[in-house]
Amino acid sequence: RREGGEGFTTEEMSVIGELARMVQLQVDQAAAAVKRRLSAEMDALTGSMNRRTIDLWTERTFAEAERSARPVSVLFIDLDHFKSVNDRFGHACGDECLREVAGALRGVLSEADMFGRYGGEEFIAVLPGRDGADARALGERMRIAVENIEVRHDDQRIRLTVSIGIATRQRGEDTPAAAIARADKALYAAKRQGRNCIQVAPAIFS
Ligand code: GH3
Ligand code: MG
Ligand code: MG
Repeated sequence: RREGGEGFTTEEMSVIGELARMVQLQVDQAAAAVKRRLSAEMDALTGSMNRRTIDLWTERTFAEAERSARPVSVLFIDLDHFKSVNDRFGHACGDECLREVAGALRGVLSEADMFGRYGGEEFIAVLPGRDGADARALGERMRIAVENIEVRHDDQRIRLTVSIGIATRQRGEDTPAAAIARADKALYAAKRQGRNCIQVAPAIFS
């Protein structure tokens, strides 16, 4: 209503109605565009970044780190004996575990860090500004966060653990491929060492 006066006329109301319809249309289109973009960039199961998005951001982060000469570390995280979780408790329960693990891992990180699902039961975190020691400390917190997850199935607590491989960018590496490969090797070393542990890749892996 107009302040202190009469209500709007029928004509005014129809103009307002038309404007509202146009605004609604724009809002709907914008919301649909955001949704499309999110589903292309995010992993549907865990709501974290998908591999494509993580690869893109990691490329940018490494290029930026080379320019600014700042450290950046990569953490490769793989669930231990996850096949047996599926085998014993079912695939739906396995999915629930993956969501819980993603949430626990993400919870340890800060806004500036990137985190995503790299594939199946593998996650990756890329930490700008963090050197190997920082990354190890953070990895240790991630490892413990997963240990503390309580997913239950028929009154039974499912024990979840992760192994983590860490690599830090070396001078001159302006693309992430080599660091990711070192983190992957370190992950396998952590698996060989007995799982539920962290390995940091040496500067040069023999
Ligand atoms: P390791 O400790 O050596 O990593 O053993 P693992 O059993 O985790 O390794 P493996 O690679 O043999 O098995 C990975 C399993 O992860 C197999 C697959 O059933 C499960 N997995 C992968 N993606 C998904 C998913 O989206 N949902 C569920 N529920 N399971 C998945
Ligand atoms: Mg795996
Ligand atoms: Mg595994």
